[in-house]
Amino acid sequence: MAALPPGSTIGILGGGQLGRMLATAAAQLGYRCHIYAPPGDNVACDVTAAYTIAEYDDLVALKAFALACDVVTFEFENVPVTPLESITSLVPVYPPLRALEAAQDRAAEKQFVRALGGKTAEFAVAQDESAVPAAIAAVGIPCILKTIRFGYDGKGQSRITDDGDIAGAWERTGGQPLIAEAMVSFDAEFSVILVRGQDGEIRFWDSSQNLHVGGILAKSTLPAGPLVESQQQAARDMAAAVASALDYVGVFTAEFFASAQGPLFNEIAPRVHNSGHWTIEGAVTSQFENHIRAICGLPLGATKTLAERVEMENLIGDGGERFEQILADPAAHLHLYGKAEARPGRKIGHVTRLYR
Ligand code: AMP
Repeated sequence: MAALPPGSTIGILGGGQLGRMLATAAAQLGYRCHIYAPPGDNVACDVTAAYTIAEYDDLVALKAFALACDVVTFEFENVPVTPLESITSLVPVYPPLRALEAAQDRAAEKQFVRALGGKTAEFAVAQDESAVPAAIAAVGIPCILKTIRFGYDGKGQSRITDDGDIAGAWERTGGQPLIAEAMVSFDAEFSVILVRGQDGEIRFWDSSQNLHVGGILAKSTLPAGPLVESQQQAARDMAAAVASALDYVGVFTAEFFASAQGPLFNEIAPRVHNSGHWTIEGAVTSQFENHIRAICGLPLGATKTLAERVEMENLIGDGGERFEQILADPAAHLHLYGKAEARPGRKIGHVTRLYR
């Protein structure tokens, strides 16, 4: 595809903070954005002139949206794939729907990565409740049950630490097909974030070390430390192999556990990622800008880290009273997402601190 000229319209499926930050980066490059999202607290719509509020399977609304856009992307990985297939003949969609499909199925995703030579934790599938005990037995206790579809931020997960946890586990996890995954003893978690252009060029940002609390990302820090740094190259090779096999265009994230056996792949996100928010101020080109560049067919930007130390902290729940304190810190860059309601576990903003 020839580069899209400034003034063109980028369609974004999903109306959350990732869409908001993508639209902000697109505006800087002279593009307009059109958000498509179901009813809800669509904070991305606050920063775009055009939006469509409709369900993801509303084929009439989807078609009108596609015809109003020059390229379409997504910021939410649970957008249903089948309705989207109806617009691929009308407008280019990046990343490819194959990538979205792969990321929506935890079992297929891990098998895909394994087929490319990547390592994952042991796992076993349970399609129904009666298969749960066998799946748990196959990987052993302790383990984590995770729904195959629609899990994020630790939702759709439950831990099995002894035999007593097995009864009721199907219902607790969400009452839908799941995998039992062996508990990994890891020393750190990290992510590889890369951008792949339409010509296949790949650029990586430095990996941050990611700290999760209750299944939700709390902090990303760089440098990530010697252990993560020693595993970064192998993880990059694996992430690049997956992105290339999917003929991917845009920003792609792969999350890893740094374990004694090397990097163990956890999951992919076919989109910009929370652990890359630090790149807005901490790298030459942010993940958001490079995603826009890639899907618009522009040259990719440099990804070099700009500070000796970078720390991104998510603001979760209310935390409202801290904003002035954060703004008083000269190292801090505050981002608030404009959410109408702060609920426990809900990401309402983030702060990135750069130390030179
Ligand atoms: P996920 O939704 O798969 O990214 O899981 C959310 C978080 O739960 C991860 O970032 C880890 O902190 C933790 N976790 C997930 N899977 C495992 C595992 N197999 N072993 C240990 N911790 C895990």
